[in-house]
Amino acid sequence: MARYIGPSCKLCRREGTKLFLKGDRCTSGKCAIDHRSTAPGQHGAARKKIEEYGMQLREKQKAKRYYGVLESQFKNYFEMADKQAGMTGANLLILLERRLDNVVYRMGMAESRKEARQLVLHGHFTLNGKKVTIPSLLVKAGDVVAVKESSRASEKFKALAEALEGRIKPKWLDVDAAKLSAKVASLPAREDIDFPFEEQLIVELYSK
Ligand code: SF4
Repeated sequence: MARYIGPSCKLCRREGTKLFLKGDRCTSGKCAIDHRSTAPGQHGAARKKIEEYGMQLREKQKAKRYYGVLESQFKNYFEMADKQAGMTGANLLILLERRLDNVVYRMGMAESRKEARQLVLHGHFTLNGKKVTIPSLLVKAGDVVAVKESSRASEKFKALAEALEGRIKPKWLDVDAAKLSAKVASLPAREDIDFPFEEQLIVELYSK
């Protein structure tokens, strides 16, 4: 299935919650869901009783859209998570959180995961000193993600170095604002993921 290129806010309205897909706009008074939280489309405002399957499906779509991954990728993550020890739902979210584009976003280097994915694709980042262009790479504890030396001089990244100081970073990332880099201090834990996913619904969906 192709990557969705339509309006991001429509996805939030479809899921009935803020998915934070547009950076600062999401926390400003311009957020679409603050003005019109009904689902898009002619019958979007009609209240429907959501059955069990519908709830499971919506939770999966929510996670898929939040992290900006394709259906097939999402299923692969689920299969990986299912093979790991522990809770499959938590494993799934932790795998998604370990994606390089998510790490770049969490470091504060991009307004959204979509922008982070573009920056990685355009070769602005290194992983352990080597240039990387694969947004889906999974980081490990001890890895160092950094803005490539030649990209640091760009106006965008220079401005970021200043803006980064005041941003809240997750505790599993050791961000060095001056060097525009972050060390993965430890793998994220479920409680580090601040979005209220009900991952058990996703597990139930794939367990049918
Ligand atoms: Fe979603 Fe952000 Fe658009 Fe609000 S502004 S609807 S959170 S993408």
